[in-house]
Amino acid sequence: MTKNIKVKRLPKDPGPAAWNSILPTATEYPQLNSDISADWVVVGGGFAGLAAARRLSQLVGNESIVLLEANTLASGPAGRNSGFMIDLPHDLNSETYAGAHDHDLQQIRLNRAAIDFARDMAKEYGMGSKVFDPCGKVTAAGSARGNGHIESYRQHLEGLGETYRLMNATDMKDLTGIDFYRQGLFTPGAVMIQPAAFVRQAAQGMSSRVGFYENSPVTGIDIGAVHRLITTKGSVRAKNVILAVNGHIQSFGFFPRQLLHVFTYASMTRALTETEVKKLGGVSDWGILPADPMGTTVRRSSNLMGSGNRVVVRNHATLNQSMEVTGRNLRNAEKLQDRSFARRFPMLKGVEMEYRWGGRLCLSLNSMPAFGEVEQRIWSAACQNGLGTVKGTLSGMMAAEHAVLGQSEMLSEFLDHQAPSKLPPEPFLSLGANMTMKWKEWQAGIEL
Ligand SMILES: Cc1cc2nc3c(=O)[nH]c(=O)nc-3n(C[C@H](O)[C@H](O)[C@H](O)COP(=O)(O)OP(=O)(O)OC[C@H]3O[C@@H](n4cnc5c(N)ncnc54)[C@H](O)[C@@H]3O)c2cc1C
Repeated sequence: MTKNIKVKRLPKDPGPAAWNSILPTATEYPQLNSDISADWVVVGGGFAGLAAARRLSQLVGNESIVLLEANTLASGPAGRNSGFMIDLPHDLNSETYAGAHDHDLQQIRLNRAAIDFARDMAKEYGMGSKVFDPCGKVTAAGSARGNGHIESYRQHLEGLGETYRLMNATDMKDLTGIDFYRQGLFTPGAVMIQPAAFVRQAAQGMSSRVGFYENSPVTGIDIGAVHRLITTKGSVRAKNVILAVNGHIQSFGFFPRQLLHVFTYASMTRALTETEVKKLGGVSDWGILPADPMGTTVRRSSNLMGSGNRVVVRNHATLNQSMEVTGRNLRNAEKLQDRSFARRFPMLKGVEMEYRWGGRLCLSLNSMPAFGEVEQRIWSAACQNGLGTVKGTLSGMMAAEHAVLGQSEMLSEFLDHQAPSKLPPEPFLSLGANMTMKWKEWQAGIEL
């Protein structure tokens, strides 16, 4: 007897994916509007889906691979994030970014393997340094409280034996052109990507091997010896399925009451004029992660494919277990971002934000992924705990290895984790989490 899954919700992305909108028109992939068969189906075209498809293509010889994306590639969270691929522990659930020593060393090894996998893609598919830039990352502070976070991060890196370089206020000004930051801490292992360009170019590079379908949301699965994935206009029969849909794994009925659906928000300026670029100063491309995890991420990016010189600010987080945000959530984020921008960029007074958006993250209380074979020959590569550029890539690679090889050295290390822990019941969960995040944002002070 076959079992049926009815997908409860489809992804809704608030506002435009600005990194995608500023690029020239994208390659379009067809909508699935017939009944087809494949050996492998990957659902979801974010970092996890793309990594799963690529790893499968390396492992399964001539077997056919199809990737189904509900919307268009690079319009979901993968094309709307800040583009930091971070090799070091970056636990958004914690007071600092630090965790336990052995666990951290393991995370670093795995994160670096994922970044190397992405690096190979970047090389093979000819992504330039404006799309994939192995420039390291700077974590910075603009207040005494922020400096305290830098110091505890520094001590943690010392304990891990990681290299870093402290930057003083002058170094920070030379980099950014602004007076805001008092101190920074540079670590060399991170990569900055233009996220939408990365996703598009990765898909383009794989398109001769993988059949991509856009605007083809999976609305149900008939589970059987050969599964049948039903989309709005067609279907795919396939023996093997990888669900790379991050938090929407819950919409497929898996990991109930184990996943936190957090939204974070960002604004991007219009293209700066030449005079404004001169007034700003600093180097042409940089990114700053906030020393306080609840602070503001800032990026300045220069003219990739005619997209202009722009500044992006990201902050604010809300828990929305419905997986949709409200107009109020967006308005609150706008206010916070306008304030953060004005505080940091007085020389750009009057420069408007051209794009405002929000995007989904999926976290678990114990920061564990939602990974594994959830039904016979259906694997989940979900719950990236906020660092999806890296952990999404990792879980996609690992799902493919789990499905094809059953075991590998890296897989044993990756599988050494618990299941995401159970969440408290509603309404306590949402009330408690949103109040706590608001309180932490308030405590972040000018770091926000
Ligand atoms: C503003 C912002 C800033 C961020 N900054 C960073 C950062 O600097 N570094 C970092 O590492 N992470 C960052 N993130 C998080 C990162 O974007 C996500 O963790 C990452 O995109 C998750 O990758 P994924 O492939 O698992 O899921 P996603 O990128 O969400 O991809 C899943 C895909 O599945 C599709 N899908 C869902 N349901 C279906 C269905 N039924 N049928 C077909 N397709 C479906 C979705 O449309 C989506 O495209 C940020 C996120 C936001 C919103």
